[in-house]
Amino acid sequence: MIALRGRARSASLDGPLRRELWRLVDGPARQPDEATLGDGPAGLRVRHAHHDAAPRGNEIVLPPHLGHLGAGDIIAVSPTGDRVEVMWRPRSRHNSILLTERCDNYCLMCSQPPKRHDDSRLLDRAGELIRMLPADTPELGLTGGEPTVYGDGLLALLRLIHSELPGTEVHLLSNGRRFADAGFTADYARAGNPRLMAGIPLFGPEPALHDFVVQASGAFDQTVTGILRLGELRQRVEIRVVLQKHTAPAVVEIAEFIARNLPFVEKVALMGLEVTGLARANLDDVWVDPFDYRAELAEAALLLKHARVRTQIYNHQLCLLDHRVRRMAVRSISDWKNEHIPACAGCAVREECGGFFVSSRHRRSAHIRPLPSPSADGHHA
Ligand code: SF4
Repeated sequence: MIALRGRARSASLDGPLRRELWRLVDGPARQPDEATLGDGPAGLRVRHAHHDAAPRGNEIVLPPHLGHLGAGDIIAVSPTGDRVEVMWRPRSRHNSILLTERCDNYCLMCSQPPKRHDDSRLLDRAGELIRMLPADTPELGLTGGEPTVYGDGLLALLRLIHSELPGTEVHLLSNGRRFADAGFTADYARAGNPRLMAGIPLFGPEPALHDFVVQASGAFDQTVTGILRLGELRQRVEIRVVLQKHTAPAVVEIAEFIARNLPFVEKVALMGLEVTGLARANLDDVWVDPFDYRAELAEAALLLKHARVRTQIYNHQLCLLDHRVRRMAVRSISDWKNEHIPACAGCAVREECGGFFVSSRHRRSAHIRPLPSPSADGHHA
């Protein structure tokens, strides 16, 4: 696991910092948004904990667990310099920007429990971050909460991304309900970014199950209408199905619903549960051992594949999957919250396996077992 925030070991500032985001550079800072790692003239100097020189003016010392930070990384520093948050790591494939913690769903297993307070400063900060990213940034994610709560504010951010980063693949996570609004969706499509894809969850093949899981009456109708509107306007959509105690028994019916009604989507992701946030709080209500639904998961994945809907399996360990669908599994767990466990020692497919969320320490399958090499057991990972 890679830590992404912490308290500065010390901070010595001439006064409150006037900006929040800083790109770390080796050597002298040449731009006002650059902070020098180590010595050199800069608006802000940043030192690693192992440098024990006494702090000087406008300098912060990072905590040891942020020792991984290096040139090119972008950090947010509180005005007093005592809190540091990692915003961007150019060497990672898993950079995403949290736009808000507000949401009009309240999913039983939400990893980022919704909050009500106005946090629109996150949207402003996202815009500032976008302007700092290198033009060759390959991909970025936009997450919440529910980013569409901003309405036009989100659309303005998407337009900014399109103009600043035209070659970047953009993945927007949304519950999809706002796309039922024809005017909003038309404006979204008008942003005209062919590299933009919306990732939208679907938790049931009919309203009762989906609305129960997201704890919002009418959500299914809005989400499905939203996906259909996006499809009409040729917008790219990924459907995400999180498998937990309530949805796993219905995964084949959900796959049939998608194949029959939403076959135009670019991708379906069948996802394992992340045991954090509300999933952890409601653990006994949402947890199911993936081993127990492996047959249904395989049937759903193969059904979608045969319907020519591109399908991937996220957040599942290879040893818990039917061998026929192991090739559909991707290493989806972000590098900063990913680990393997001692039971994986000697597993021949460890390099291909996505491993575990660090949060799986709270609950994980009782059926983890090292796999032999594909040639030894006759199956391919
Ligand atoms: S035992 Fe192998 S397949 Fe199972 S979780 Fe560990 S690395 Fe993955």
